[in-house]
Amino acid sequence: MSEIVDQISTVFAEKGHRHYGENVSELEHALQTAAFARQFGESDAVVLACLLHDYGHLLHNLGETVANDGIDAQHEELGAELLQENFPPEIVEPVRLHVAAKRYLCGKDPKYLEGLSPSSQLSLQLQGGPMTADELREFESHPHFEAAVRVRRYDDMGKVPGMKTPGLDAYRELIAEFAVL
Ligand code: FE
Repeated sequence: MSEIVDQISTVFAEKGHRHYGENVSELEHALQTAAFARQFGESDAVVLACLLHDYGHLLHNLGETVANDGIDAQHEELGAELLQENFPPEIVEPVRLHVAAKRYLCGKDPKYLEGLSPSSQLSLQLQGGPMTADELREFESHPHFEAAVRVRRYDDMGKVPGMKTPGLDAYRELIAEFAVL
């Protein structure tokens, strides 16, 4: 159980300095996204999904300018595939769906699209753009749809340069609590 905790800490320690077009590093982004979820009283599962939602970004080696290079790294699928070895669907599925949730929110509300960071707007086009009416309905029927949308909201908030948050160690128990052998 503590193996996965250490594994996640190592990945963040080694690769968390990456940026992917935002003004915060991946580690800062993960910690901020989780901290906002906590602050807004989300469940432990949503908080942990927030912490790990971009895990796939840390594990591909396509470089930090993938979106600028016109490549969709499909980091949400990669992250979910790796996490599903150690975590239940309530953690894995919101991670898998957090990009779909962005496409969903863009399809629902054009104002949401305008509020996205430039980097998120750029990657949106590579990810398929806003959902169509049919796609919106289908997405709403997914059992983890609501959690995915919640994670997405905090994901969008967690891009504040210099924000103070608890460190990764603050989540060791939470990671261990959800980890399945
Ligand atoms: Fe993110």
